[in-house]
Amino acid sequence: MSRTQRQGPLMNVILPWNDGAPVCFCEHCRARAREKGIDAERARKGFEELFVYVRALMAGKLQPADGVFTGFLRVLLRYPEILAWEYQYRLSREEVLQGMYGTVKGIKPAAQVGWHVDHQPSSWDLAYRAEMSYEEMAPYSDFIKFIAYHDILGPRIRFWYLARLQKTVLSELSLEESLDLYYDLFGYDKKVEPKLDQLDKTGFSPDYVYRETKRSIASAAGKTKIYPGIGFDVPWGSAPVPADPEKVYEAVIKAFEAGADGIVVSREYEEMRVTNLRAVGRAMREVNARK
Ligand SMILES: [Zn+2]
Repeated sequence: MSRTQRQGPLMNVILPWNDGAPVCFCEHCRARAREKGIDAERARKGFEELFVYVRALMAGKLQPADGVFTGFLRVLLRYPEILAWEYQYRLSREEVLQGMYGTVKGIKPAAQVGWHVDHQPSSWDLAYRAEMSYEEMAPYSDFIKFIAYHDILGPRIRFWYLARLQKTVLSELSLEESLDLYYDLFGYDKKVEPKLDQLDKTGFSPDYVYRETKRSIASAAGKTKIYPGIGFDVPWGSAPVPADPEKVYEAVIKAFEAGADGIVVSREYEEMRVTNLRAVGRAMREVNARK
């Protein structure tokens, strides 16, 4: 999956990975839109306007008289097809999962089929979160494994979320204000999680794992299993590698305290330090002893 397919076309514009155009307007997407009563040409035009607007903001060439965020809202109001297109992106993506689920079950009914939910959709893509609950994904998901990598989320939020949004539609907020807003909208505790200048040094806390697991279980409403991906030793600049084994231990404990059905030790086996794998083992023995 390419990076631009990890998020929908709307996020590709306001939270851009690269300079590419928002996808996708191929013949299949257009045919799908026609079927749903969505004017593909209006959607394309709307995305074009939004893209030009955001790129002018990023280049520092535009100071909208009525405000930057207002200007964003103005394009959405004039082209509601933008939101319709974003939603169809997600629905068509889910249909691919449904197809895979049916195919695998057709071959081997006992196979457990579930999905990885990337870090962006699990922890900072509000459009993804709004588009669908885990309960809605449950009919074709035996489990959902979402990313809950506490350490690496710090620099990711600092550089992939806050910094990018400030260059596009949230330039009217300071990074500190934007971080506060992020914590509140996603339900993380800003008293516990790092301040702006600590984000890329300390990473998030095990409390983030707890809250995101709890949220996911509530979203699934008992219809599918929730396996948080506990991540450590993921390399990035000044981020804590090797991870603090106490935090890794605590993250596993917190995941189960929040009601997780299991965990996935993440990310890549060759990245993981033995001390941290031991921390996971210690936590798992404790979790099993409590049962
Ligand atoms: Zn397409």
